[in-house]
Amino acid sequence: MSLDINHVRSQFPILGREVNGEPLIYFDNAASAQKPNAVLDAMSDQARTAYANVHRGLHTLANETTEAFEGARSTVQRFINAPAPANIIFTKGGTEAINLVASGIGQQIEPGDEIVLSVMEHHSNIVPWHFLRERHGAVLKWVPLLEDGTLDMEAYAEALTPRTKIVAVTHMSNVLGTVTDAAKIVSLAHETGARVLLDGCQAGVHLDVDVRALGCDFYVLTGHKIYGPTGVGVLYGTSEALDALPPYQGGGEMIEIVEQDRVTYNAAPHKFEAGTPPILQAIGLGAAIDWLNGFAFDQVIQHEEDLHQRAIDALATVNGLRVHGQAPGKGPVLSFSIEGIHPHDIAQLLDRYGIAVRAGHHCAQPLMTHLGVSATARASFGIYNTMEEVDAFIEALLKARSMLL
Ligand SMILES: *Cc1c(COP(=O)(O)O)cnc(C)c1O
Repeated sequence: MSLDINHVRSQFPILGREVNGEPLIYFDNAASAQKPNAVLDAMSDQARTAYANVHRGLHTLANETTEAFEGARSTVQRFINAPAPANIIFTKGGTEAINLVASGIGQQIEPGDEIVLSVMEHHSNIVPWHFLRERHGAVLKWVPLLEDGTLDMEAYAEALTPRTKIVAVTHMSNVLGTVTDAAKIVSLAHETGARVLLDGCQAGVHLDVDVRALGCDFYVLTGHKIYGPTGVGVLYGTSEALDALPPYQGGGEMIEIVEQDRVTYNAAPHKFEAGTPPILQAIGLGAAIDWLNGFAFDQVIQHEEDLHQRAIDALATVNGLRVHGQAPGKGPVLSFSIEGIHPHDIAQLLDRYGIAVRAGHHCAQPLMTHLGVSATARASFGIYNTMEEVDAFIEALLKARSMLL
């Protein structure tokens, strides 16, 4: 049995709307995905029927909310095959998860210690490490790409030295769709004693992630790209890596004992969750994962791959069009440029046809420099997109091209 796309679509109220008089075609999933009723309802039902602050209370609503919140943690744990709920920390997004790790590692950095990044990282996985360069004298080492957008694994192996503190690389590029050989990246880094953080903000929705099989020390997810809400992200860490990391923010919940002249900290995950966490958002993320788990994952992947391939095949016939990133096994994220046309103009004209694509540097300026462009247009596909939408996109793109050239 294959995916019933009409049934999928009927669960996303927003897909019923029009944009500029046309049915919405939403191809901006890599920036943020739409949310099904299951997610919207989970959050509003919780707020309507059983809402209170978590953990601290002894009353019924506090206990019910805590149960739902901790249930979401267990859902995330199973989703990425983490060993225990304590390995899952809720943050306000992917960005905060990376900042949490960088800030902690920063306290252990000596001048000259090295941090290995790839040139296709999102700014969220670059700027926190720049902080360590500016503040602690860390040296950033950049791994280049091969022509097709694959990570250059030879250069990667050469970048590792006994001074490498951490390798922070994407599991799937938000611009090129490249899927990195994460297990290999981890095993090489561990040979030199470096830790590895994998940015799974894109991979989380398109790959079947198994953090134990990958062997990484840290893995980062974001809620709003997995059909969940904004305001919640996930940091997975091994118990050993989390224990070695100092706390990020100070406040309620993350402490054990606070006195006038000393403080001791709670164990993970609470050590890293100062203050009131994103309660409803975490519950919404749990609902998104439960919802996604309701489908056969290989069928979802196949559907997205079919959309992606149809778009690639059609774009190949467009004169002057260049697709950025052709790595084997890449995910359904399609960046392109058309000679003589600014990507912003493409996105604006497509919007007139109700089609949402992104144009810009996609928070990946070092990658734009590497590609020799200032921006690209990007169509990214999700579970609710259809072949007809891909065809309408190509047709509109051809019209836009003839108007702009
Ligand atoms: C979206 C994204 C981020 C940032 O996640 P937020 O939750 O939006 O902060 C980081 N890395 C990649 C690869 C992304 O696509």
